[in-house]
Amino acid sequence: MDRESRQLHIFFFPFVAPGHMIPMIDMAKLFAMRGCKSTLIATPHDEPTFLKSIAKPRDSGFDIDVVTVSLPLKDVGLPEDCDNLNKAATMDMHRQFMRAVMMLDRQLELLIEKLAPDCLISDMFLPWTTEIAAKCGIPRLVFHGTSAFSVGGTECVRLYEPHKKVLCDSEPFVIPNFPGEITLSRMQLQDFVREETEFTKFYAQVKESEKRSFGVVMNSFYELEPAYAKHYSTFLGRRSWFIGPLSLCNEEIEDKSHRGSQASIDQHECLKWLDSKQPNSVIYICFGSMANFNAAQLHEIAVGLEASRQQFIWVVKKDPIVEEGKEEWLPDGYESRIRNKGLIIRGWAPQVLILDNEAIGGFVTHCGWNSILEAITAGVPMVTWPVAAEQFYNEKLVTRVLQIGVNVGVKRWVRYFGDSVKSDRVVEAVKRVLVGEEAGEMRRRTKALSEMARGAVEEGGSSWSDLGALLQELRLQRLASQKKI
Ligand code: UDP
Repeated sequence: MDRESRQLHIFFFPFVAPGHMIPMIDMAKLFAMRGCKSTLIATPHDEPTFLKSIAKPRDSGFDIDVVTVSLPLKDVGLPEDCDNLNKAATMDMHRQFMRAVMMLDRQLELLIEKLAPDCLISDMFLPWTTEIAAKCGIPRLVFHGTSAFSVGGTECVRLYEPHKKVLCDSEPFVIPNFPGEITLSRMQLQDFVREETEFTKFYAQVKESEKRSFGVVMNSFYELEPAYAKHYSTFLGRRSWFIGPLSLCNEEIEDKSHRGSQASIDQHECLKWLDSKQPNSVIYICFGSMANFNAAQLHEIAVGLEASRQQFIWVVKKDPIVEEGKEEWLPDGYESRIRNKGLIIRGWAPQVLILDNEAIGGFVTHCGWNSILEAITAGVPMVTWPVAAEQFYNEKLVTRVLQIGVNVGVKRWVRYFGDSVKSDRVVEAVKRVLVGEEAGEMRRRTKALSEMARGAVEEGGSSWSDLGALLQELRLQRLASQKKI
């Protein structure tokens, strides 16, 4: 078959962290379902998880595969088991990990030469892939993994530096040249924006590489944030295709249970518990794959949940305190008191499966974009508890723009470990999102967005059409590069 008529072959290269890998795997599945050949790039450690996630589409005959690249962890002084960003416990390890990822360039080039894909879709944190793609004569598309609201807001703060014009860390400023009069304070900004660090320069490279790329694919849908989608293309001048929510490519229980890591609870046990509850009566609490809290904060959450008198599913990451079996964050006799009311999952939860259950009436979230979009898709309003990354921007989208959540009142960006929140704030926020008139209003708005999200990915919907348009552009691009040869 000649190059022109054969199916498009796309490489998907995620950054090595769960919140980046999970939507990229979904994206690879989606492209395969639309007739492409999808090749995912994984480390040998993550390969089994990737293969498990794509087993079903593969069995159904879709063309999707995984190839591996090895992180030179030893060369940067990291232990062999630090094979994912969420295992880099200190800032130094974080930096070393980023360096190891940058050293994958030659391996990527060899893979492109060998397998000859037509396009590379790679994570924003892999800016050097623009050059490699150009060298190999294929387009690179960037995947940020967050909302257009957050990408645009972050960029306007970076470019116009409003945080340098306020008198103190807590004084609010309006994000300049950005729709909606959105306010933030300096202490809610990423550390590398507040002050010059090694990462500030790296981030500038990320933005430069974005400008030189073919465009950007967004895990979002146009109807969710039309003003910010327009701002991104017209004011910031980037080409973008909105193709989400990507998690909707997982239709069956099995697909939803096998996203990311192996769940720490049996899916049937989890569903049985949820099915015994009334609709909208349970609050789900989970802070994603990176954020971690100390024992004192976990204790405040435990006390707050019990005092709220609401039913809950609470995901507590396996941290050293838990593994040593001390669990000093749990009040005495807690689990026997909450036996029928609360379920604590230690480790990894099948999040999409849980959110999609009608018993779930609210979600306490750290505002990672995947979590927010999954909640919107499921029609579940939120309590926002941002920790780090771009999560304070996402909080504003949820509470200010979409009005589908209430904030728990976090004021300060703290890398991974979170600012402290007292139990009475937990009680108040949980009740506000679960019961009463305000909760009902938020639920109605979220359900309407959920319907729009589902409509967007259906045939003829905005995300479905945007993906079709992108695939057509990539075919034309291939044709043009062929003519040049
Ligand atoms: N997730 C999950 N179970 C967990 C924790 C997280 O399935 O116990 C998934 C969640 O559904 C989401 C992703 O991991 O798809 C987390 O991404 P997000 O952007 O919300 O946050 P991050 O982990 O990147 O901070």
